Amino acid sequence: METWISGTTGLLCLLGSPVGHSGSPAMYNFSFQKQKIDAAYVAFDVTKEQMPEALNAMRLFKMRGGNVTMPCKNVAATLMDELSPAAKIIGAVNVVVNDDGKLIGHITDGIGFVRNLQEHGIDIKGKHLVVLGAGGAATAIQVQAALDGAKQITIFNRQDEFYSRAESTAKKLAEAAPAVKVDVVQLENTDRLKAAIADADILVNATTVGMKPDDGVSLVDPSFLRADLVVADTVYNPLKTKLIEDAEKAGAKTAPGKGMLLWQGAAGYQLWTGQDMPVKAYQAFEE
Ligand code: NAD
Repeated sequence: METWISGTTGLLCLLGSPVGHSGSPAMYNFSFQKQKIDAAYVAFDVTKEQMPEALNAMRLFKMRGGNVTMPCKNVAATLMDELSPAAKIIGAVNVVVNDDGKLIGHITDGIGFVRNLQEHGIDIKGKHLVVLGAGGAATAIQVQAALDGAKQITIFNRQDEFYSRAESTAKKLAEAAPAVKVDVVQLENTDRLKAAIADADILVNATTVGMKPDDGVSLVDPSFLRADLVVADTVYNPLKTKLIEDAEKAGAKTAPGKGMLLWQGAAGYQLWTGQDMPVKAYQAFEE
């Protein structure tokens, strides 16, 4: 039996509910052991109402930090001592860093998305992105892309409760990143979608469409895709969505959602430890 937990071992945690399905404990503990970092990561099932107590426990136990998942991401943002620029705009936190009792909240989904594209040789600076969706993943991508120098972001969403969120993101970005042109369009407007994709460098599906058990579905007509378009998906289950398959057939460069998931996790690891997470080693271990 391995004896890697000792009297000096530091603790990090995941806060949210449910948490039992999370892959984060396995990924972070693998990485700590691989890099001989004296820390352990566990998941705690807590409600929104319990977040003030849970975060105080993080201070009390001198934890280095942790992750926050649903349904606690928004309330966590209201309980931080400081927020990263993206977390401030979005009003949500998925990574907490404890700097000697001062809790700093970050949101790393957008960072993971941008990094995943970089890993595929794509820089978003000066690019026109078409982003389908206005929920948690989509908003994080839109905000990070704007902060990282995208030229234009066209958001498409269907007329549901998320549509007003897209409009609110556009308003916030007009203040936070005025150089970026942000438009919000109804997804039902197929002509506008076709025209926007024709003008775009990068197309992103950040809706839940294509996710199991409703896989095999895509919001984009395959005829809208072309070889010099980059196509990314946030959906990672299945690993290859219908959109990614269609894009491959069109000869486009693709970036499936699993990479974004890994890199958003790696961004948290970097914030806690100052080191690069051994992403490639973990990928090999997982396979
Ligand atoms: P969410 O519930 O916050 O948002 C859902 C979005 O999908 C909304 O914009 C909604 O309008 C849209 N939508 C839902 N059904 C639709 C339909 N039938 N037609 C058109 N639009 C529809 O979800 P979320 O948390 O943003 O997650 C979105 C996807 O991103 C999920 O598949 C999730 O697993 C994935 N995700 C991936 C990562 C990653 O690191 N790869 C991170 C976060 C989320």
